Amino acid sequence: MSTFPYRNDLLAPFLALPQGDKVQAEYVWIDGDGGLRSKTTTVSKKVTDIGQLRTWDFDGSSTNQAPGHDSDVYLRPAAIFKDPFRGGDNILVLAETYNNDGTPNRTNYRHHAKKVMDQVKDQEPWFGLEQEYTLFDADGTPFGWPKGGFPGPQGPYYCGAGTGKVFARDLIEAHYRACLYSGVNISGINAEVMPAQWEFQVGPCEGISMGDHLWMARYLLGDWNGAGCHTNYSTKSMREPGGMKYIEAAIEKLSKRHDEHIAVYGEDNDLRLTGRHETGHIGSFSSGVANRGASIRVPRHVAAQGYGYMEDRRPASNIDPYRVTGIMVETTLLTQ
Ligand code: ADP
Ligand code: MN
Ligand code: MN
Ligand code: MN
Ligand code: MN
Repeated sequence: MSTFPYRNDLLAPFLALPQGDKVQAEYVWIDGDGGLRSKTTTVSKKVTDIGQLRTWDFDGSSTNQAPGHDSDVYLRPAAIFKDPFRGGDNILVLAETYNNDGTPNRTNYRHHAKKVMDQVKDQEPWFGLEQEYTLFDADGTPFGWPKGGFPGPQGPYYCGAGTGKVFARDLIEAHYRACLYSGVNISGINAEVMPAQWEFQVGPCEGISMGDHLWMARYLLGDWNGAGCHTNYSTKSMREPGGMKYIEAAIEKLSKRHDEHIAVYGEDNDLRLTGRHETGHIGSFSSGVANRGASIRVPRHVAAQGYGYMEDRRPASNIDPYRVTGIMVETTLLTQ
């Protein structure tokens, strides 16, 4: 399947050469259009603390993040992961973007989310995100679909197994292992209802780390394209016996800010939240136990035991997780 203009067996000896004490640090950041960019710097020795990494910069005029006459945008290291591509002590560095005057860059939603999370630390907000995505061939059709046509109707593909039912298993396995190696808190995968559509779950992650881990999982996947991104959420009090009353109180608050949430729950979400295909309608808020046609679902086992977490089914796959986790906390814990 490789389209590289070189042969991997000839390249391998060079990549196996020792690199001495030096370490490669790949700085990864979110660009002006919500895509990911990265570039590498050599660090003199193994990095054990994020404080050892320097603030770096890049040409923001090439990434839709700054005008040409004032193009430098700063990269401030925010989280470190192991690099599954280079291995060894090499690392991936998720970085926040800042303008020349010290203000966060337009698409740096982590800056605000971090402030929000710092205010509610004692309530230990946990998140679990279900990232759905579809794999495409180079020609733009979903991977493995018959050329110029459609596969058979939905039914056998969700959690499917075997030829003609599951597509690109090799790539999905590689991504899963790369996440585990890197330290991304990936918690599972499943094939979705449409052929070539998959889902991976990340979490539970506490506070700001949810956004960090999801963005890094996306980076390891490469190009991805969407569907939904269910957002599971709990606080310390929701997770303890009797927590159901805190879950209900949070749902009540969410019901009053439906439009504010929809505004940050992804582009083109109106095409997905039609009220059909296991979604609630974009125009109205609803909730229910085990109800996949509602905005918020309380899982059956949570209702049965009386505590746990809730699932917000509204976010689209193209969300910025910092915005979604941030507004979730603002609405449920910081609004009267
Ligand atoms: P679904 O049944 O909706 O397909 P999944 O199993 O795909 O659910 O995803 C559930 C997600 O919820 C996982 O990412 C998991 O880590 C997360 N999760 C589990 N417990 C909690 C909790 N107490 N608070 C927040 N998220 C949680
Ligand atoms: Mn240069
Ligand atoms: Mn799921
Ligand atoms: Mn799903
Ligand atoms: Mn779900």
